[in-house]
Amino acid sequence: MTETRHNWTKEEVMEVYNTPLMELLYQAATVHRENHNPNQVQVSTLLSIKTGGCPEDCGYCPQAARYHTDIEGNDLMSVQQVKAQALRAKSSGSSRVCMGAAWRNVKDGPEFDNVLEMVRTINKLDMEVCCTLGMITENQAQRLAEAGLYAYNHNLDTSEDYYKDVISTRAFQDRLDTIDNVRKTNVTVCSGGIIGMGEQLEDRAGMLVALASLSPQPESTPINALVPVEGTPMEEFEKVSIWEMVRMVATTRIILPNTQVRLSAGRTDMSREGQAMCFFAGANSIFAGDKLLTTPNPDVNEDMKMFKLLGLQPMKPFAKKAQPESVEAQYSKFKEQGEKPKWSRPGHKIERNEEAKAKAKL
Ligand code: SF4
Repeated sequence: MTETRHNWTKEEVMEVYNTPLMELLYQAATVHRENHNPNQVQVSTLLSIKTGGCPEDCGYCPQAARYHTDIEGNDLMSVQQVKAQALRAKSSGSSRVCMGAAWRNVKDGPEFDNVLEMVRTINKLDMEVCCTLGMITENQAQRLAEAGLYAYNHNLDTSEDYYKDVISTRAFQDRLDTIDNVRKTNVTVCSGGIIGMGEQLEDRAGMLVALASLSPQPESTPINALVPVEGTPMEEFEKVSIWEMVRMVATTRIILPNTQVRLSAGRTDMSREGQAMCFFAGANSIFAGDKLLTTPNPDVNEDMKMFKLLGLQPMKPFAKKAQPESVEAQYSKFKEQGEKPKWSRPGHKIERNEEAKAKAKL
């Protein structure tokens, strides 16, 4: 096992990122082999259990209510609908279901109770369950853990410095606080970010430094490439090149040796050769299914053909950590407290977010 370092500096990370490519790939693949089976890739299915209408202003997100995008919103799915989708995901090779709700934060009440029931239902299908529901309190994290949640996703998105150019409705520290609340339970942490949002290399490095400094480091780290969506403040941004993706994946692998590095949004723009290079560089997880919340994703059959071609196998569930038990609602030790996570409102103006909002009103 490679020793985990929590004290990386931005300069060191940038030096890794800029290593001549063949050398970088070799170093990353070596770290990968020391800590993971290079022929196994974990497959997750992302389900949007509640789409659109989010009050936040994340500049990349088509689900923010303030921007005009073509996203069709929907209310919270039912437990039965989620179970049917999870069974379908399981039969096509997924070991994990990640449920995403476009909420700023979790609110105690019937909707959250339904989410807890979804967690129990999927865990009983012997699949790993992950949720991404926005900010949560410690009590809410405990209740999710008790229902059998395996992982909670809350991305840092980018560096603390550049974060101020992407989101104005909550602060970077609020994200760290939610991750901290998850860490008080036995639920694993999934946290990563997005490249291609106009950030500098320094910001990519800054994000990795922030992730590396978490102790323990996240068990899984999604690396997304921005998918520019019409109507969002980043609609005209250029897509990142495969070379940037490969370098980012390889650098993440070296900085976070034990994490599962996940290829996430932007995979439709990557060729099989490009994806193969990312797997070689240390990516060992993908999202399956034709949609990633709201953006397109490769067809699952295409993914399975690619796996066959490359000799990759989908990882079995609970390969890294034992399956949690699900406690039924009536036996819960935790009562709802009706409290909201505390968050700050930096409230500064981000010009491109304001422009997109004004355009949406026209
Ligand atoms: S990324 Fe999440 S919090 Fe931000 S606008 Fe989209 S749904 Fe809301």
